[in-house]
Order: sequence, then C-alpha cells, then structure tokens
Amino acid sequence: MSWTAEDEIAILDTIDKWIENDVKPIADEHDQADEYPHALVDQMIELGLFGATIGEEYGGLGLSASLYAKIVVKVAGAWMAPSGIFNSHLIMASAIERSGSEEQKQDWLPQMVAGELRGGIALTEPNAGTDLQAIRTRAVRDGDEYVINGAKTWITNSLNGNCLLLLAKTDPEAQPRYKGMSMFIIKTKDENGNPLPGLTINKMKKLGYKSIDTCELTFEDFRIPASCLLKGEGEGFFITVGGLELGRINVAARGAGIAEGALKLAVRYAQERESMGKAICQHQAIQLKLGEMASKVEASKLLIEQAANKFDAHERCDMEAGMAKYFATETGVFCANEAMRIFGGYSYSMEYPIQRYYRDAMLMCIGEGTNEVQRMIIAKQLIERNKI
Ligand SMILES: Cc1cc2nc3c(=O)[nH]c(=O)nc-3n(C[C@H](O)[C@H](O)[C@H](O)COP(=O)(O)OP(=O)(O)OC[C@H]3O[C@@H](n4cnc5c(N)ncnc54)[C@H](O)[C@@H]3O)c2cc1C
Repeated sequence: MSWTAEDEIAILDTIDKWIENDVKPIADEHDQADEYPHALVDQMIELGLFGATIGEEYGGLGLSASLYAKIVVKVAGAWMAPSGIFNSHLIMASAIERSGSEEQKQDWLPQMVAGELRGGIALTEPNAGTDLQAIRTRAVRDGDEYVINGAKTWITNSLNGNCLLLLAKTDPEAQPRYKGMSMFIIKTKDENGNPLPGLTINKMKKLGYKSIDTCELTFEDFRIPASCLLKGEGEGFFITVGGLELGRINVAARGAGIAEGALKLAVRYAQERESMGKAICQHQAIQLKLGEMASKVEASKLLIEQAANKFDAHERCDMEAGMAKYFATETGVFCANEAMRIFGGYSYSMEYPIQRYYRDAMLMCIGEGTNEVQRMIIAKQLIERNKI
C-alpha cells in the first residue's frame, strides 16, 4: 500500500498534535534533568514511529523517505531527543531489512515495530569514528556462537534500549581492512532489562542531546548466537555504507528541524522584545538575520526533498543526500547561533528553550559522517559525474 496525499496530511497533522500536546510541554524539564522521556516512548509506539520506515509486511508503516523526513523535521523542530530515539532505531532496522535473511527479518522486525525491541547502531570506538575500518572490536566464531571483545563509545539508545547493530572485526588481518568487518544484530539485555553477561554500559555526560542516553560499552567474552551475523562475514562495511544515503537524509532532517525550530522561536521573540521604543523585529539588523535564517531553512528542506525523492525512486542519491546533510545541519548551527543573538542576554537563561537548540545543533554536523568528510564526498561525486 502506498500512502496518498490525504494520508500524508493526516499523518503530519497527527504528529503536529502530538508535538504540541505531549512533546513541547515536557522538553525543557526533561532536557535539564537529563531524564529519559519514558512516557513519550509509549506514545511513539502508539503512533507507529518505531516502525515508520519498516515494510508493511513486517507490521511497519512503510513510509517513504520523503514523508519520514517531514516527520523528523517536525519532531526535531520541537526537541531533538525523541527524534533520536526512533531515528537510530530505524537505521538499525533498515540494515536488517536490507541485509538480513527472511528468517532474521521475521525474528527481529515485528518486535522492533512494536517497540518491544528498541536500540541503535554501535559502530564508533574510542580510536575510530570517521575511520571505521580502524575498529578493534573482535568477533571470534566459537561453534554456534561468536565471542565479542572490545569497546564501543558514543552509542545512543544503548542504556534504555535492548538491542544493537554491532560492527566488529572477524578478520583483523584482512587487507583491504574493510574485508575483515562483519555486522551483527544483537540483544543486549535480559528479560529484566539488565545487561547480558559480558556487557558493561556506562552513560556519558554530554553538552547537549540530553535525555536520550549515549554510552560507552565494554564487551568482555560477550557471547551471541552465530545466527546474529547479517549477510556473511566480511559484509559489515558494505552494510554500513549501504545505509548512509537514508541515514544522511535522516540527519539532514534533524538539522533542518533544529533550524526551523530556532527560527520560530526567534520570530516570536523578535516581535515581543522591544528596544528604542519598537519591537526588535523592526530593526534592520534583526530583519537581516531572520531573512537569511528563513531562506536557509527553506533551502534545506528542498535539498532534503530532492534527496528523499531520488531515494524513494531507487535512484542513486549519495551526492544529493550528502549535500542535504551538509547544508541542513550547518543551517541548524547557523539558525541556533543567530537565534541566540536575537534573544540577547536571555539566550543564556535556562527559562528560554533557545539554549537547548544551541547545545543540540552542533552534533548533527558531526554524526553520520562529519561535514568535512561530507564536502569531500560531494566533490568526489561531482568530479566522477562530470569527467572530462
Ligand atoms: C552525542 C553523540 C551521539 C553519537 N551516537 C552514535 C551512535 O549511536 N552510534 C555510533 O556508532 N556513533 C555515534 N556517535 C559517534 C559519531 O558518529 C562520531 O563522533 C563521528 O563519526 C566522528 O568520529 P570521531 O568523533 O571519532 O571524530 P574523528 O574521526 O576523530 O574526526 C575528528 C576530526 O577530524 C576530521 N577528519 C577525520 N578523518 C578525516 C579525513 N579522512 N579527512 C578529512 N577530515 C577528517 C573530522 O571531520 C573531524 O573534524 C555519536 C557521537 C556523539 C557526540
């Protein structure tokens, strides 16, 4: 079933109401207490968000990348944390959908749709982020099991979730290095919600992106069934790369959400705050800011739509997704910064949410491929597609 234009309006309308009634009222309190929004998770299950992009044959909503991105823009526009709770989860699910056997899909995806299994992706290690081929976590086959040893860092949804997509080395001597990397889908908790034997999870303290848990993980002789391997040994790097287009569209949408959210706050404040006998929005200095912010927000959304439409049409969109990711996330930082200036001294008050956007925005320039690397990818594609 494909969703009609009317369905799309109804879905976005439902999301708008949820954001107004349930997300916005609790965002600041939870953010400042760094408290996980359990009540929102139950609502997200009801809304079907944990299965938003998962195929209908597995119980998901099967939304297009384009409609999904619009939802993400809205949620991140109000608060980044909830968008991260279902976003990383869906990146994990999409790897299973793309690379899992039918048995693995039947085993995992319906439970992920139902929110019974929730998690994220465990790629980064203390010594390896951009250079993922340098990871050291080992997976050694032992009969019907693999034994995992190593450390992961910055892993979102790992404390409040119960499963993860795990990238590990099955052949550390392989050359080129990517041939020795494999991907696993693993359960991390027992039925009481405690980490399984051999796994330690430590929550990290962060500048922003609070309320959602990001953790260091240590695996010491952690055993998983061999059936957790996705596709085959040596396929891990390709599974990671295969998810980048959708991942970048998702992160772009979060950047655009931050940008639009900050703009909305600034537009309101600029009409409320007066100086020299008039609302500050009547000063040209503020108008220049608002004009530039609004134009960049709209440009971001168009770049995301272009990339998402290509993705939905099964066309190659690595350059378009890279452009959307780069531009929309830089726009998130730009708009959060400009909004801080518009709020003046009050931008530093914890009573106004704008400081939260400022603390959350930068992360989107770092995750899912840093924006430095993003521009290099765009340039390489540009040359490849325009060879003389
Ligand atoms: C809050 C938070 C949540 C996160 N959640 C997750 C998660 O859920 N799962 C997960 O796996 N990871 C997660 N990450 C990790 C994130 O993906 C990495 O931080 C990111 O990939 C960058 O890696 P790094 O931090 O090791 O930086 P590095 O790779 O060390 O990069 C440092 C700097 O060098 C530049 N650089 C590096 N290599 C090159 C190159 N070849 N060319 C040009 N410039 C280069 C980078 O652009 C950057 O400016 C999270 C991070 C944070 C902060």
